[in-house]
Amino acid sequence: MKALEVYKLLPKTNCKECGFPTCLAFAMKLAAGGAGPERCPYLDEETKALLGGATRPPVRAATVGVGARSFTVGEEIVMFRHEKTFYHRPGIMVCADDTSPLEEVRRNAEEVRDLVVHRVGQDLTLDGIALRCESGDPDRFAAASMVVGECGDLPRLLITADPGAHAAALKVCGQFLPLIHAATAENHEEMAGLAKRYGCPLVVRAETPEELADLAARCTAAGVRAILLDPAPRTVGDFVARASHLREHAVKRASPDLGYPLYLDTTTLGTDAALAAGILRYAGVIAVPPLPRPSLLAALTLRQNIYTDPQKPIQVTPGIYPVNNPGRDAPVLLSVNFSLTYFTLLGYLEAGKIPCYLFVVDTAGLSVLTAVAGGKLDEDLVKKSIESTGLAGTVDHRTLIIPGYAAPLSGRIEDATGWNVRVGPRDAAEIAEFLEKGE
Ligand code: SF4
Repeated sequence: MKALEVYKLLPKTNCKECGFPTCLAFAMKLAAGGAGPERCPYLDEETKALLGGATRPPVRAATVGVGARSFTVGEEIVMFRHEKTFYHRPGIMVCADDTSPLEEVRRNAEEVRDLVVHRVGQDLTLDGIALRCESGDPDRFAAASMVVGECGDLPRLLITADPGAHAAALKVCGQFLPLIHAATAENHEEMAGLAKRYGCPLVVRAETPEELADLAARCTAAGVRAILLDPAPRTVGDFVARASHLREHAVKRASPDLGYPLYLDTTTLGTDAALAAGILRYAGVIAVPPLPRPSLLAALTLRQNIYTDPQKPIQVTPGIYPVNNPGRDAPVLLSVNFSLTYFTLLGYLEAGKIPCYLFVVDTAGLSVLTAVAGGKLDEDLVKKSIESTGLAGTVDHRTLIIPGYAAPLSGRIEDATGWNVRVGPRDAAEIAEFLEKGE
C-alpha cells in the first residue's frame, strides 16, 4: 500500500500521539514497513487489520530464544539481494541427539556457544543447538534439553514429531522460547497447543505449498504467533525449487499463509551443498549436523557476504592505525575504509612484521579502485584527512605511500598536501616485499 493510500485511512488530526509530527509522516513510515498501525490509538480494529496486512513485510518475523543470543528471521521483502537487501541472516543451529551421553550434549552446546570467528571486523557466531529426540523417551529428551539450558541462553530447536516429548522438554525449557519442529497434518492440533501455551515459534512441515498454507492457517487460528515453513525437501535441488516458489508467493503477497520464513534441515541432504543452498535461497533457520571447522568457516563467510547490505559496505573507522609498534620514522600507508581492503592489508603487514602506520581515509566503504573511479578518493580528501587526524604530528617524515590503484592521484596529492608520494603495489600481497626493499 502506498503512503497516500495509507494516509486516506488515518484520522488526519495530526495529534502526534503515534510519535510522528503528522498523520502523513506516520503514513509514510507505515507504508515503508517502519512502524505498525497499533501506534495510532484512533484506528478501529478493521482498519488496523487492513493496514497491518498491507504494510507488514511479506515474510513475517519469527524470533527464536530469549536474551542476547536470541535471533529474528523473516521480514524479507525481495527475491534477490541486489533489489534492496536481505535483512535477517539465517540462524545456523547445530544438531545433537538425546541418545548421546549428556556430557557430550553439553560439550557440543558449549562448543557452539563459544565458537567465534573474527572476519573483516565482525564476530561471526553460530546460533543455537538443535536437539533431536532419537531416544523416543520424553524424559530423556527433557534431560538433554535441560543440559543445553545449563550452557546459558543459547537458542534451542527441539526436533521430534511426538507432542509428548515436546511437552516434557518444554516443561524444563519452555521459558527460553525454543523453536518447535514440527507440526504436521497428523499432530498439528497438539503442537499448536504447546506452541501457544509457551509462546514458542513453531515449524509446520508439508511437501506442497497448499498443505503448508493450510497448516500455517490452522496453527495461526489456534493462537500460534510465529511460524516457519518446512517444505520437506528430499534433495538440495528440491529445496531450492520449493524455497524459491514459496519466497515468490510471499513477496508477491499471492498467498498470505505462505508469508513465513523457511526452515531447512541439512542432515540428510549432503551437508555442505545443502547449507550453502539454504543460505543463498531463503532459509531462515538451518539445522546442521556437527561440521568440520572448514565447512563452518565457509558457511559463516558465505552468510556474512550474502547478508551484508550491498548499499552499505562493511567499514572501519577512518584514522591512523599503528601496526607492529611503529616509531616516528615508520612508513605511512594510505588506505580506504572498506573493511575487506583494510583487514586484507593489515593481515599482510602483520605477517610481514613491518612497523608502519595504516592511514585510513573515509571513502564511505568503497574499495580503492571504486573510490578513485567514482571520485570519492581524491587529493582534497587526503589533505583534509591529514589535517583532521593530526598525521603530521605522528611521524617525523612527510612521505605517504599510496595504493597502486590510486597512482593517477599521486601528483595531485603531492601538490595539495605538500607530502612526498610513493606509489605502492596494486596487490596487498606485495606490500611487505615493497616495504622491505624500500623502493
Ligand atoms: S496518532 Fe493517529 S491521528 Fe494522531 S497523528 Fe498519529 S496517525 Fe494521526
